[in-house]
Amino acid sequence: MKTQPLFSSMHNHTVFCDGKDDIETMCRAAYKKKLFAVGFSAHAPIFKQTGLNSDWHLKEERLDEYVSQVLAAKNRWQGKLEVFLGLELDYIKGLRCAQDSDIKALNLDYIISSVHYIFPANGAQPFTVDGPPEEFEKGLKEGFNGDAQALMHSYYDAVAQMIATGGFDILGHADIIKKNCQDKNYWPVEDESNRQREIAHACALTGITAEVNTGGLNRKKTKDVYPSLIPSITT
Ligand SMILES: [Zn+2]
Repeated sequence: MKTQPLFSSMHNHTVFCDGKDDIETMCRAAYKKKLFAVGFSAHAPIFKQTGLNSDWHLKEERLDEYVSQVLAAKNRWQGKLEVFLGLELDYIKGLRCAQDSDIKALNLDYIISSVHYIFPANGAQPFTVDGPPEEFEKGLKEGFNGDAQALMHSYYDAVAQMIATGGFDILGHADIIKKNCQDKNYWPVEDESNRQREIAHACALTGITAEVNTGGLNRKKTKDVYPSLIPSITT
């Protein structure tokens, strides 16, 4: 007998951070699409730990409300759709990681850990690799003297450190740095596929799942999903 494939979607943002819809609307959409599970992964608050101010993270003071609304949805949808409570956590070396006690205390169903911020070693302003193109180009210029390969290494160094630090279940958008690079003449840079292979091996060794993330593709910012296939692994 032919069985239907089972789909779920675990990387979802709502109006609690930078998403467009509320929790109930997204549960209804997931049910309509015949997903067997939906997970909520608001961007975990980071301001207290890092001093980074953003408009796309869940505010610390709304964390309890977020948790209780997802748990309420879990109850409401019982028997029809599995609802999971999660967070997407920014890994920022020495400042924020999935092992932090405030995160562990929440008893989440799962944690996605991602690298968005780059802290240039020369002390230039931190910036996000997936932010607006102008911010990315400024970060590349001021933080790395225009050296795209150095920036690439800095990104994958952070991803590798994040995996070594552990405490999470899903690696978020493993090669999101390509969002601002894919159509640039300076990309791809030498060694990138080696770094990606290293990340894939680290995930395999630690049992961390790498998500297939359609965010860039969906918004027409990338030509494929995060992460792209690595030729030497897939051929
Ligand atoms: Zn993310």
